[in-house]
Amino acid sequence: TGLPVPGATPPTALTIAGSDSGGGAGIQADLKTFLACGVHGMTALTAVTVQNSRGVADFLALPPELVAAQIRSVAADIGVGAAKTGMLASAEIIEAVIDACAASSIGRDGRTPLVVDPVAASMHGDSLLARDALAALRDQLLPIATLVTPNLDEVRLLTGLDVTSRSELRKAAEAVHELGPSWVLIKAGHLTEDPECVDLLFDGSRFIELPGPRMRIPHTHGGGDTLAASITSALARQAQPIDAVRFGKRYIMRAVADAYPLGAGVGPVSAFW
Ligand code: PLP
Repeated sequence: TGLPVPGATPPTALTIAGSDSGGGAGIQADLKTFLACGVHGMTALTAVTVQNSRGVADFLALPPELVAAQIRSVAADIGVGAAKTGMLASAEIIEAVIDACAASSIGRDGRTPLVVDPVAASMHGDSLLARDALAALRDQLLPIATLVTPNLDEVRLLTGLDVTSRSELRKAAEAVHELGPSWVLIKAGHLTEDPECVDLLFDGSRFIELPGPRMRIPHTHGGGDTLAASITSALARQAQPIDAVRFGKRYIMRAVADAYPLGAGVGPVSAFW
């Protein structure tokens, strides 16, 4: 991935996301990925989850103004090469994030690329986003995203489309693209019947298939966060979106291949590089 030159300022990336006390997903996954990808990671914490390998027991969302202040603080002083969002918890936090990003030139019309991972729930089904926040995410945040990275559950929440086979991915990508992001990456990991895992990237005109093996590995906690964070790292290193997504696909394949058991539930994808 290329480590930074000692003593020289590396590229910088910001994650706007929740904490996973178990260290497998959320802010913790993002920071580990940023480190492995040779970028300086920064955080705007949205929520604290009480979480282990068996799921999310509770969470506290932080005040929206505090989330926005973290973004403005690091953007004004350190500078943000690329940013990503993960767990955003509430509609009020989403609105505060949008305002702070606009003020900091983060997002579609600013200089800084913004990757939106539209996190709604954990893999155990625990909600990480208030019910009334989905509309804010869809109608206000997606239009400023450089790239959005939904899995098939999130495609259904955002568009109402129920994708059950690889042939339906293009329709889903078009429907998500209609919501306003520049690029859409549909993750095909949930098509478990398919012998391969072919994710689909779409920019409104080109469909780009990203093939990969289907790995039958039970420990995938933090996989979505890690993919989005590796793509964000590549964008911080000034890669074009298509190259950043190709890099992210390679990164997540290795992270899943090296995933490990942890606790009694689902272990995390690997961050050991
Ligand atoms: N916890 C936090 C704070 C997260 O941000 C996320 C995903 O973005 C999760 C948990 C869910 O991770 P997974 O679905 O891989 O269990």
